[in-house]
Amino acid sequence: MGESRKKIPVSRSTLLGLKVTLHATLQISKMLYMECNYEYLMTATLSQDPLERFFSVMRHSCGGNDHPDPKMFAQVYRLASCFSLVRPPKGCNVSGKDLLKTLLGAQGILTSPNKDKEIWLQNIDIMVESSEPLLEGSLIDEDHDYNEAVTSDAVQSYIAGYIVRKLRKTTKCVNCLQALQMKAGDGRQLQRNDVINKMDLYGGLIYASNELFDLTKQLEKCVLRTISKTLTNVHTISQISRELKKEVLLRVGCFQHEKELTVKIIDFYVVIRSYFLAKSENKRYEVAKIKTKANRKNAKLLS
Ligand SMILES: [Zn+2]
Repeated sequence: MGESRKKIPVSRSTLLGLKVTLHATLQISKMLYMECNYEYLMTATLSQDPLERFFSVMRHSCGGNDHPDPKMFAQVYRLASCFSLVRPPKGCNVSGKDLLKTLLGAQGILTSPNKDKEIWLQNIDIMVESSEPLLEGSLIDEDHDYNEAVTSDAVQSYIAGYIVRKLRKTTKCVNCLQALQMKAGDGRQLQRNDVINKMDLYGGLIYASNELFDLTKQLEKCVLRTISKTLTNVHTISQISRELKKEVLLRVGCFQHEKELTVKIIDFYVVIRSYFLAKSENKRYEVAKIKTKANRKNAKLLS
């Protein structure tokens, strides 16, 4: 060891630095390969600067302290992590105090974030199990469905096919899979599959079985009934589940997994449907905002 050090014209600390760098590089590449599916890594692009900058920010935040300890670092790190959250964004209408309150309030910590999801799944369980509607649909519903939008069968069939594709990844049972889809030869004959037929030039689209198609139609009816009554808001999902309770839902799947699979389909359908609703609502909100801005500008010019 002593002799070999003499041969290499580098200092002990440089050598140690090289060792540390190599070790870190190997660990990073291993992690990226195993966990992030990297195929190759250009080590030249690895940079330590952001990390150094981060530590320098941490040191600066402590004030003039030459001997920071791990405890202090942890504290400052936590403060820095929530700093951008605590600082009210430009033009926001929530004052600093309220913002802190919502961030530091303990309500959210005590209830598990998955609780809502659990309740929702339990709800679907109950709906699927019952053979009668849980809620009575009022006559008003039937009389006033003229402002309901209608989703065409072709689109519905396409969505049902999409659901099959998603479920195929997690469903192992052969009988269940058979219950979900239809042979392409039979599917092509049906009028509801027009859209799929036209798009199938690119291949890979799936024809949903009649059972699944009918179930999604039932679900869609409930979604449309919900949005015909109110605008999309935080309670939309619970309102949809209220509408669902008025129906006796069909079941899809083999005898053994029927319930499980149906719950999965309902959950999946309502979630993607809500996602689309939220997206279109956001779009509408954005348009309204731009319009207001333009109106303000015009008002200024006139006065
Ligand atoms: Zn099955």
